[in-house]
Amino acid sequence: METVEDIINKQACGTAAVRGLSLQIIAEMNLLVPNVLVNIESLNIKATSSAVNPYLQPAAKEALRRAITARGGATLEINSAYRTIAQQFLLRSWFEMGSCGITAAALPGRSNHEDGLALDIPVADPDHPDRDPEFVAWRTALENEDWEWFGWVSSDVFHFTYKGTSVRDDIGDVGVHAFQRLWDREHPDDRIADGGFWGPQTAARLRMSPAEGFSTKKLLKLIDPNMTGEDISKVQQALVNAGFLTASQVTNVYDSVTQVAVKNFQEANGLGKDGIVGTQTRKFLGLPA
Ligand SMILES: [Zn+2]
Repeated sequence: METVEDIINKQACGTAAVRGLSLQIIAEMNLLVPNVLVNIESLNIKATSSAVNPYLQPAAKEALRRAITARGGATLEINSAYRTIAQQFLLRSWFEMGSCGITAAALPGRSNHEDGLALDIPVADPDHPDRDPEFVAWRTALENEDWEWFGWVSSDVFHFTYKGTSVRDDIGDVGVHAFQRLWDREHPDDRIADGGFWGPQTAARLRMSPAEGFSTKKLLKLIDPNMTGEDISKVQQALVNAGFLTASQVTNVYDSVTQVAVKNFQEANGLGKDGIVGTQTRKFLGLPA
């Protein structure tokens, strides 16, 4: 299992390795503040790498939708959209190491891309954005919808920031808080005491976190929408073997039937009857921890 620290030390210079952790952070943000970020893949966009998290604040997404519509079906390529605290931590660490040619990187929680209001799009020749007709057309369409180009104010010719109304300005902090909640839930005996903001405790725990995200194995339970996946079918098969489910009830879905079977299994084995498959229940089912 690679940790965020492993990725930092590799100096890979790209952030795709923390994609799993990033998606968990985004999901947690949306639990903290419903719809704080929305997926933009339904728009006519094309991410140029797997490091791109296709998420923006809702108002920024609608403005982007109008800009794309104005270009009559053209596909917008995107180099970067939402950046999580985990991605920003990589960039900041490489910047502090003098690595990867990074000349500036904000502290995690403080980068413009962590607000869900920023987009980077490709420019054929960064020294001459005005000579790239596709870029010029996108720039016009985006500026008409309150996306400000940063090429005027800095050398960041790829970057646009949404300056329209109906947006939140605290999303960077929501992202930090979301990571802290994720960590605390996984490590109830090692909670982060940085008061919801970026600090040394948060940095230390983020270093130790798995780049691919925390395992959900320990936490299988009945929720709405139901949990799905291979982890579930393995638990269900073990319950079949133990005589608490039938083969036709192996569905890959942690449904109410599965919950009843888990509770019955827990009761029969003298475990806490909470219907949650954690480390103890997994052990009794003969599954790896
Ligand atoms: Zn940017």
